[in-house]
Parts: sequence; structure tokens; C-alpha cells
Amino acid sequence: MSTLFDLTGRLALVTGSSRGIGRSIAEGLADAGATLVLHGRDAARLAETEAEFVARYGTDRIHAVAFDITDEDAVDAGIAEIEARIGALDVLVNNAGIQHREPLVELDRADWDRVIATNLTSAFLVGRAVARHMLPRRSGKIINIASVQTDLARPTLSAYTSAKGGIRNLTRAMTAEWAGSNIQINAIAPGYIHTDMTQKLVDDPQFNGWILGRTPAARWGTPADLAGPAVWLSSAGSDFVNGQVIFIDGGMTVVV
Ligand code: NDP
Repeated sequence: MSTLFDLTGRLALVTGSSRGIGRSIAEGLADAGATLVLHGRDAARLAETEAEFVARYGTDRIHAVAFDITDEDAVDAGIAEIEARIGALDVLVNNAGIQHREPLVELDRADWDRVIATNLTSAFLVGRAVARHMLPRRSGKIINIASVQTDLARPTLSAYTSAKGGIRNLTRAMTAEWAGSNIQINAIAPGYIHTDMTQKLVDDPQFNGWILGRTPAARWGTPADLAGPAVWLSSAGSDFVNGQVIFIDGGMTVVV
């Protein structure tokens, strides 16, 4: 069997893997053999997810560390703890994020700042902390989670769209500076995926009908749809893939 996509012995941190898309990506990486550092903010929810993963993959391959990705000191301390206590990170997935829907003219500065901090600045902070360890080792994979809103705007999503557009160019900026040290940095841009974040939209018959009509694949994505691309971008199978945004959206961004 090909070993191109085998992640045995690799250590991966997936931010926001206590639920949703991050959890599915973590499962995909663990199924491909990786050792996982699960992460979230809510320690109780993280502990539940950790227990489920331990039951499936064993204590040796599952770890969990909680920290707020918008708090610079907490990020630096969290990454230092992982490197000292668990091991050298081979893979970072910058996945944790939030949504906030409000018309632009009514949007408070505080909500704008919160969305930018959680969806864009966090990828800089966690990416920088991890790269400081990866660069001297001349090895690593970083996957930033973007969105169809990286390319397409939609009313009420201004801060989110701005942050996710920023993820595209942060991915390029990281590539410009770190690819020469054998670190591959790419982004996965999920389309509309059924998770806690989008449950209200799934439950809205009008929005749900629009999604099904607007998506060539004629369905919502599932978190599991993102596992394959994440395994690829974490593995030796993507060693010359640099700075790309891969849209996993059932074709939504290629049609009007
Ligand atoms: P969920 O709301 O289901 O999960 C979010 C995760 O991020 C949780 O684990 C949460 O932890 C964590 N998190 C949020 N804020 C912080 C913080 N400040 N510090 C640490 N952890 C935090 O989100 P999704 O799975 O839907 O989304 C995951 C990513 O995918 C996001 O970047 C999102 O923008 C992107 N995306 C989602 C799409 C979708 O359709 N769902 C489509 C395109 C992109 P806790 O529970 O502890 O708060």
C-alpha cells in the first residue's frame, strides 16, 4: 500500500477540534495514523471529546490542551507546553473560528474586533508560535481553514468575509517566508458545511433551498468531507503544494 498519505508518528494540533469541522479533521488525521493534540476553549467540552477519541485511538495517541487563540500569552504558553510535554509538532491546523451575522452599518466595533481576532489574528498568533519550533527543524505542515467567504461576499457577514479573505493572503505571506524551510502552508476553504455554526441556516427552509440550488453537488457538505483534503495537505503527498487555497464546496464557487 502507498505510504504517501500515512501520518503514523506525526503529531498534529487541530485548533477548535472539540466539535464541528475541527473534530472531523482531527478524526481524519487520527485515522491516517497521526497522534493528535485536541484543542478548544471550553475545558469540559474538550474533555468529553478527548475521552471519545481515547476510546477509539488509545491514550498514547490522544492529548488535549485548552487555550484561547485570541490571547497571545495563552497561545505562546499552550504551544510551549505541547512541545515540552507532548512532542514536536509536525502539523498545525488553524481551524477554530466564530461567526457573527449583522448588517455592516449596524455592526459594533467590538463585534468586528472579536471576529477578526478569532478568525484571522489567531492564525497569525498560533502559526507564529508553531513556526518558531518548525523552522529550525526544517519540516512542517500548516493548514489554515478559510471559507467560500474568502472569495465571495454575502450581506451580514462583513467581518467574517474580511477575516477569511485575510486568511488567503496570510497563507501566501507564510509561504513567502517559510516555504524555503520546507514548511508547506495551504488553506482549505469549506463551502456550506452542516455544523453547530450553521444549524440555524439548515433549519431555515428558504436558506436551505437556496443552498441546495446554488451548489452543483446539490447538498450541504459534511465535516467528514474535509477529512480527505486535510490528510492530503498534512502528508508527504503534498510536499510541493505551497500557498494554495483549496475550495471544498461542492462546486459553489465555480458557478453563478
Ligand atoms: P463550531 O462552532 O462548530 O466549532 C468552533 C470550534 O472553535 C470549537 O471547538 C470552539 O471551542 C473553538 N473556538 C472558537 N473560538 C475559540 C477561541 N477564542 N479559542 C479557542 N477555541 C475557540 O465551528 P465550525 O466547525 O462550523 O467551524 C470551524 C472552522 O471552519 C471555522 O474557522 C469556520 O469559520 C470554518 N468554516 C465553517 C463553515 C461551516 O459551514 N460550518 C464553512 C466554512 C468555513 P469551544 O467550544 O471551546 O468554544
